Amino acid sequence: MLCLAPTPNSNSTMRFLTGLQPSGQLHIGNFFGAILPAVQLQHQGEAFYFIANYHAMTTMASPQTLRENTRSLAVDFLACGLDPQKAVFFEQSAVPEVNELAWILSTVCPMGLLERCHSYKEKMARGIAATHALFAYPALMAADILLYNSDAVPVGKDQKQHLEVTRDLAGKMNDTFGPDLFKLPEPIISESTAIVPGLDGQKMSKSYGNALPIFGDEKETRKLINKKIITDTTPLEAPKPTDHSIILALYKLFASPQDYDTMLARHRSGGFGYGQFKKDLFEAYWEYFRSAREKRAWLLAHPEYVDDVLSAGASRAREEASQTLSRVRRAVGLA
Ligand code: AMP
Repeated sequence: MLCLAPTPNSNSTMRFLTGLQPSGQLHIGNFFGAILPAVQLQHQGEAFYFIANYHAMTTMASPQTLRENTRSLAVDFLACGLDPQKAVFFEQSAVPEVNELAWILSTVCPMGLLERCHSYKEKMARGIAATHALFAYPALMAADILLYNSDAVPVGKDQKQHLEVTRDLAGKMNDTFGPDLFKLPEPIISESTAIVPGLDGQKMSKSYGNALPIFGDEKETRKLINKKIITDTTPLEAPKPTDHSIILALYKLFASPQDYDTMLARHRSGGFGYGQFKKDLFEAYWEYFRSAREKRAWLLAHPEYVDDVLSAGASRAREEASQTLSRVRRAVGLA
């Protein structure tokens, strides 16, 4: 991954922060857009990665689903390469201090700043209830980032505005309560992370029903690829169109460059059918996630290991959080 990584505010190691919402079965858009970049970044500095279960409550009201999704995200993130020796990995709710900081930040947060946020408007347009939590989400996100003194936050387009809110709030706090209270975190914008297309060619998204899961069942995923990728009626012997080909776009993510070139050449030459291409796509996908799948099976069989990782991560995160919060409490006159 190519990153526009900023330099840290001091000479110390760069600290990265990423939160992922436990919103259900992960798909390969989540993998290439969020998980893989996070796994790569853990080798470049100090990583704080959390499962954003407070945030998930803005759109979910089932305790059981929240618990199950939180657990499966922990397992899947670890299976995909999150290394607990390198990254501090924890549940957002294991550090309730974040709510106090969110409240304090809210006191300097102009309403207009939140009213301008696209994500809130977009979620309301999708029919999600306009609660205070949904509206105040960017203040909680700012608290997530500032609580851990993050230098840099990898963001996709959808979260860029929220990082600007964080920088605004950090600046306001510094102006009001002391110039060195918070670092201003920088966005990390990945140059190579493109939007992953779904099986129907739109952006891959759980809500569009076009997702290819990372850890799907073998038979079902094969069927999904066969049934959901709509192909044209070009006869087997004729060349196949390559522009806007969903099969090629997805195959490129999993196959070696040589195998991709072979599939491209076969599209151009004719003599190969879509059934063969879909089979090749499934096999490349299945192989790509083989070791992650094996690791996931091990993690599912060893829940106590996952508990230990999350608990150690929470302790480390809480240490950092309590130091920040003491500093902030003193600065604002609460201590
Ligand atoms: P979501 O749960 O849909 O908000 O996705 C969580 C994160 O996964 C997003 O912030 C993106 O970084 C990434 N992501 C989701 N869908 C895609 C996609 N189709 N292509 C690339 N990245 C994606």
